[in-house]
Amino acid sequence: MSINHPAHALYLGVPGWVVAWIILIAGVSVFAYILYKRSILIRRAAPDPRFSQIGKRVAGLLLYGIIQKRQPRYLWAGVIHLMIFWGFVVLGLRSIDLVTQGLGIPVLNPLMETGFGPFYNTLKDFFELIVLSACIWGILRRAMVRPERYGGSHHWEAYLVLGLISFLMITDMVYEGTGLLMNPSSGKGWLPASQLATVVLSGSSPQTISGLYGTSYWLHILTFFFFLNFLPLGKHFHIITALPNVFFKRLSTGKIKPARWDVADIDDLDSLGVEKIEDFTWKHILDFYTCTECGRCSDNCPADATGRPLSPKLLTMKLRDYCFDRVPLFGKIQAQDAEQDRPALVGDIVSYDEIWSCTTCGACEAECPVFIEYIDKIIDMRRHLVETSQNPNTFNQVLMHVEKTGNPFGKPAAKRAEWVRDCGDIPVKRLNQGDTVDVLFFVDGYGSYDPAGQSIACDMVRAFNAAGVDFGILGPLEKDSGHQVRRMGEEGLFQLLMEENMEVLNEIRFNRIVTTDPHAFNTLKNDYPGAFEVMHYTQFFASLLEEGKLKPSKALEGKDIYTYHDPCYLGRHNGVYEAPRRLLQAIPGLNLVEMKRSRDRSFCCGGGDVILWHEIEQEEMRMAAKRVEMAREAGADAIVTACPFCYIHFEDAIKTGGWEDTMRVVDLMRLVVSTLEG
Ligand code: SF4
Ligand code: SF4
Repeated sequence: MSINHPAHALYLGVPGWVVAWIILIAGVSVFAYILYKRSILIRRAAPDPRFSQIGKRVAGLLLYGIIQKRQPRYLWAGVIHLMIFWGFVVLGLRSIDLVTQGLGIPVLNPLMETGFGPFYNTLKDFFELIVLSACIWGILRRAMVRPERYGGSHHWEAYLVLGLISFLMITDMVYEGTGLLMNPSSGKGWLPASQLATVVLSGSSPQTISGLYGTSYWLHILTFFFFLNFLPLGKHFHIITALPNVFFKRLSTGKIKPARWDVADIDDLDSLGVEKIEDFTWKHILDFYTCTECGRCSDNCPADATGRPLSPKLLTMKLRDYCFDRVPLFGKIQAQDAEQDRPALVGDIVSYDEIWSCTTCGACEAECPVFIEYIDKIIDMRRHLVETSQNPNTFNQVLMHVEKTGNPFGKPAAKRAEWVRDCGDIPVKRLNQGDTVDVLFFVDGYGSYDPAGQSIACDMVRAFNAAGVDFGILGPLEKDSGHQVRRMGEEGLFQLLMEENMEVLNEIRFNRIVTTDPHAFNTLKNDYPGAFEVMHYTQFFASLLEEGKLKPSKALEGKDIYTYHDPCYLGRHNGVYEAPRRLLQAIPGLNLVEMKRSRDRSFCCGGGDVILWHEIEQEEMRMAAKRVEMAREAGADAIVTACPFCYIHFEDAIKTGGWEDTMRVVDLMRLVVSTLEG
């Protein structure tokens, strides 16, 4: 049987290639129109400088966009996604070939007639089978396993798209298979998918085969353009936006974006934060378009896990719907909320409790396969609430104390160094303008005034002394680092604290700053403009251990089993996972177990949060209590942490949970000091 390519057949007297051009022009025009509409908010949004460090961005794109390193963190879903993604990469060339064949401009023919042709055809056929299997697997998994994290996602859309992809694979298999049946010499290379189609169709009449040949071709082309235009209408927009989103991902963690990237001084701004959708940056709007609704963020979110009214996935989905609603495909751009009787973005679409439920722990961002950001968006919404006095009342007194006294307790600055009296007779230098010291110990508010923080600070002093470190503190010259203040959304007060601290730090000569609190460590390292080295104590003492200046030699008493809790601002935000573990391993007689959720999957204790000053009523369980349960499941008798906030939260959770007989919390510094001789 001879093969007449569908492009050469007549359809109601119209040549096939004309039909192909009509489909192409219509398909591409509609697609361009939808993309234009989707780009409007991106173009109107706030600036965001994401065009620097191109080499790093390309490397990130290769690792996370092409190799998709984060996908297998959820093994089976990741494998399915990789199969489909790689299928898309390989089959893209096939789509170009099929479309251009139909247009009568077979641009790939010269390439396909080389040795590459048979090789590619075999690869293409393999991937058609792989993608088809992955789609069937994906459909069954969704329907039967029903992972909880898909709750609230658009299921029908997922089924439709998996169905469309399967249909694309099947139509191409039928097209090529019927071609082989009509002309066995037409296939170049080993074609397992097409051969499968020939087996299935081998009993059909020549007319059926000829009819299927043309029909499968046109169905394939029509489905292809329908699929293309369907993508930007919902969650599958990520097929187009994911690679750019990964390319433009944030290159560092721990930092908070400024109030506006193009304005250096916040006094020059008319308003702070996000009130309307265009106040988000263009990258944040791109984030909304890119969400795949996989739910990995919410699955790891401690707020979601403890029943707080926050699911990062649902937050992004709401904001994407809001973007689509604001710029509808047909009709005019909707006016701003205030100009119409529409629900406000902040307060109505995104509730106050959602905004205040976030602990800024970063678990969502560490998990998202397409690098969607949450913390900056949430803080930008908080900035608006604080600026317009819509923050919880309980914040007002805390913020007033910080402003007046430089600490959240409202205690006199003159008493900031009184804690040293409880550290025995070890001399502690109080630094002044012009002084020189090796280590500047930045104590921060909790270390200075809270009993638990003070006790950790004293252990620091003991360890510095034992290792012969030249150190000093700022005492009354020090103000709170402002970490929490900034993350509460009080940008003005944060700037003030930072300026005052910077003024003092610039007048003292030191080699490095060491902190006990991962929050102070994070903000001094990432938010402050100083070019100084900042270390958390775990890093500093781990380096002394390696140099042989710190020698834990006394064995721990008892047979307790310890587990280490990675504080979010030490681990996820700053990548410090090994130093605390090196210190722990150096402690003689210490039995250590890891919790299931550790390192970058650590579960926030609630400490990076505003919970010390604001209760979320809808919470079912305290995060710290949930974390203590995880430690119990791991078989531990004691949770070791390296953060005064974690310590306070765990201590409280153990008391209120009635676990005092079976669980305790200990700061790593205490453990280290208890093993030093003398
Ligand atoms: S930062 Fe933490 S608490 Fe906030 S949304 Fe992400 S995972 Fe949830
Ligand atoms: S934000 Fe990221 S992790 Fe969360 S649902 Fe969307 S794609 Fe998945």
